[in-house]
Amino acid sequence: MQEHKRKRILITGAAGFLGSHLCDRFIEEGFHVIGMDNLVTGDIKNIEHLFHLAQFEFYHHDVSKFVHVPGELHYILHFASPASPIDYLKIPIQTLKVGSLGTHNLLGLAKSKQARILVASTSEVYGDPLVSPQNEEYWGNVNPVGPRGVYDEAKRFQEAMTMAYHNFHGLETRIARIFNTFGPRMRLHDGRALPNFISQALQGKDLTVFGDGSQTRSFIYVSDQVEGIFKLLFSDYPLPVNIGNPEEMTLLAVAQEIIKLTQSQSSIRFEKLPVDDPKQRRPDIDKAIRLLNWKPQVSRKNGLENTINYYRNLFQEQ
Ligand code: NAD
Ligand code: UDP
Repeated sequence: MQEHKRKRILITGAAGFLGSHLCDRFIEEGFHVIGMDNLVTGDIKNIEHLFHLAQFEFYHHDVSKFVHVPGELHYILHFASPASPIDYLKIPIQTLKVGSLGTHNLLGLAKSKQARILVASTSEVYGDPLVSPQNEEYWGNVNPVGPRGVYDEAKRFQEAMTMAYHNFHGLETRIARIFNTFGPRMRLHDGRALPNFISQALQGKDLTVFGDGSQTRSFIYVSDQVEGIFKLLFSDYPLPVNIGNPEEMTLLAVAQEIIKLTQSQSSIRFEKLPVDDPKQRRPDIDKAIRLLNWKPQVSRKNGLENTINYYRNLFQEQ
């Protein structure tokens, strides 16, 4: 903790799911944390508990516009971007802008402050992958003009721009390829599979499984994700690193597990599969294990139980 005292870190997307957990972690480690968010998909409640701390400040700002932060800055975590398919389909241009213009602004800020920057990339850079598991050397299978292209291509541009700043300006950069992460503070109506299934199960509504539910995902609990990002930031590796949990499941099995864990009477209702929905997704995490001495620690069952309790409390408060 002493080692990080008075180090200043900017976290964009601070009021979102991952950003808010990262704020907590860096505060705990003794950093001075500057959160930035335009609240387009985030919720100020996620960071309200930090506002009384002298160690925390918050800027309500759109990072696709010029970003100014007074004073020294040692690190930047660029996490601002809609992340749920229903969000980025609703605001496609803003999504493209924050991944491209926003990233450019933050790389420029990092360069001027001589700060190290880590950008949040995604397993979506692999698109609908033709190989499994996906390792970092796989170039992906992305439809640039499909509905998900606004997110996938912005993130691919983000990676290219980040590498260009690294190679041409010698900037210290890190790229985390984040796989499906879950846990408390995911918005109830954010549309992603786990918040949908859990809130449906808790309300006794049908769980909406898209397609026949045979598509797969690999879900990582948020504390494992945060630990991976923390270790990657302090590594010396500039190329992309997958951060995810390789335990792969069909979406139908996930829905069934949630019905069981919530002891719900809900049934499953099959709905249309969204266009270009990836059929399989599973990270190869050998690189993270080797370079970061990191691997996921939280079992899916424990992670799901924590998340279910969080949503139960939310419903009780309403
Ligand atoms: P989220 O929607 O909960 O959080 C994103 C935050 O960014 C929100 O608070 C939103 O208001 C803010 N934001 C969006 N555009 C902005 C802008 N132009 N200026 C300032 N703030 C802006 O999503 P999340 O799940 O926390 O995802 C955070 C990051 O991690 C994103 O970059 C996402 O692409 C990446 N990621 C997340 C996952 C996951 O499973 N959660 C997987 C892969 C990648
Ligand atoms: N999904 C589902 N029902 C829902 C929401 C999502 O079956 O109510 C499916 C979706 O089609 C995808 C998987 O769950 O195959 C994960 O979707 P999510 O939106 O969580 O993230 P993605 O991995 O697609 O970015």
